[in-house]
Amino acid sequence: MSVAVITGAASQHGIGFAIAKRLAARGLDLVLIDLSEDVTARADELAGQGIRALGLTCDLTDEEMVTSAVSAATEFAVAGGGHVEVLVNNAGIASPTRIADITHDEWHTLMDVNLTGMFLLTQAFGVAMRERGGGAIINMSSISAQQGGGNFAGAHYAASKAAVLGFTKAAARELAPGGVAVNAVAPGLIDTDITSAVLREAEESGETKFVAGIPAGRPGTPDDVASAVEFLALDAGFVVGQVISVNGGAYLP
Ligand code: NAD
Repeated sequence: MSVAVITGAASQHGIGFAIAKRLAARGLDLVLIDLSEDVTARADELAGQGIRALGLTCDLTDEEMVTSAVSAATEFAVAGGGHVEVLVNNAGIASPTRIADITHDEWHTLMDVNLTGMFLLTQAFGVAMRERGGGAIINMSSISAQQGGGNFAGAHYAASKAAVLGFTKAAARELAPGGVAVNAVAPGLIDTDITSAVLREAEESGETKFVAGIPAGRPGTPDDVASAVEFLALDAGFVVGQVISVNGGAYLP
């Protein structure tokens, strides 16, 4: 059975869990990884639906914890008679801090959380996929990488998400000869735990600035992003090193 590893999937309203639900509906077994222990509850919810699912609590900035998570995910896949064939590097943190106020600590934290797990998991699973001759890796970037920050995103967040795009293209060129398709998704404003408090407050006070710049006239849903990830994970073999923007037209390069 094919297994998908998805990071940052602990929140019921988050993009990671929406991706998990879509890939479960396509019959993939799942390994969900998150800093939050809630990830086991998310895995249990999906395990009842005709697939196997494992939740692993792991800090993706900690190399030892990542190594253990890679072993656990690999054992889980082998026990089900399969391999990890899809990796979705979705975990991330955002911060709106302006340049003048970003401390060194905050800078390094954003870089570490948004980049280190993606690198370590790609190194582990991507190389194994290449050796077996196929797989798909999807990395979560952001509109802030394309347009330069935004309401919810400072320069450090934008820089980390731009680095995701550079890493994605380099990994795509290295791994494509082995049949591994590496791509990125760049969401615009999506209604999740990261943004919902501010969006609800704006709605109540009649503030329109958040949706004013979105031609589609609304923030995206986690499932809007998940549908692009599903396509790249399962239906897009010859799409290599690309970025799919899911932003309602808010940024048109
Ligand atoms: P979310 O907070 O629900 O999801 C992020 C998850 O990452 C959380 O469950 C969190 O616990 C986990 N995480 C954080 N640090 C971690 C660590 N060190 N190790 C393991 N897990 C860790 O938010 P979301 O909106 O679903 O965001 C998912 C991804 O989409 C993020 O990479 C985010 O930057 C990106 N994104 C979101 C938006 C948006 O508007 N919501 C827009 C563009 C990009």
